[in-house]
Amino acid sequence: MNSVAAQGSLIVISGPSGVGKASVLKALLVKSPDLYYSISTTTRLPRRMPDGTVERDGVEYFFVSDQEFKSMIEQDEFLEWAEFNGHYYGTPRAYVEKLLVEGKKVVLELETKGAAQIQKIMPEATLIFLVPPSMNELECRLVGRRTEDLNEVDKRIGIAYEEMKAAVLYDYQVVNDVVDRAADQIKDIIDVVTFDHRQL
Ligand code: 5GP
Repeated sequence: MNSVAAQGSLIVISGPSGVGKASVLKALLVKSPDLYYSISTTTRLPRRMPDGTVERDGVEYFFVSDQEFKSMIEQDEFLEWAEFNGHYYGTPRAYVEKLLVEGKKVVLELETKGAAQIQKIMPEATLIFLVPPSMNELECRLVGRRTEDLNEVDKRIGIAYEEMKAAVLYDYQVVNDVVDRAADQIKDIIDVVTFDHRQL
């Protein structure tokens, strides 16, 4: 797969819960319409968003049962998968590999264990870590977004401190102080690492 995949580009974006990955990704995909976002599979339940809407199957995630997820692991349907806060998350292998073979730029949003797996199997992938302006600000954002109960928020804050330790393993760190600025910086990084020198 590696030699074929080399035709496309894989970009991994990680960052602690509450850092604003979804907002930055949304802005990035508008700025760079040539990027393909891979929708992950998860066993967690759809989340109610601050605007009252609920995540939809096939839009934010493919929502499956534990049993379905396990059978997908057995069928080797994931490029990578990991457990996060008691739930499973995985990247659909067939979709991503197809895009890479077609030479596309594919963006994955992964927690840190999944990103480490990708780094191992596809060392040519570009890993970007989104950093909060401060841990204090991160806690405020997590509490303020009101998408999880306080018990869940507490757990996510604990995991966030752990995840921050992995930031040094990434190729790039981008601070998300202003969403649009963070998205611009990520766009610039992707433009540089995917620049086709044969065009020169
Ligand atoms: P959330 O429950 O907040 O949507 O996601 C929890 C964590 O799982 C986030 O850090 C998110 O980036 C990560 N995540 C989402 N999809 C995947 C995936 O396919 N694989 C892995 N390893 N992590 C994922």
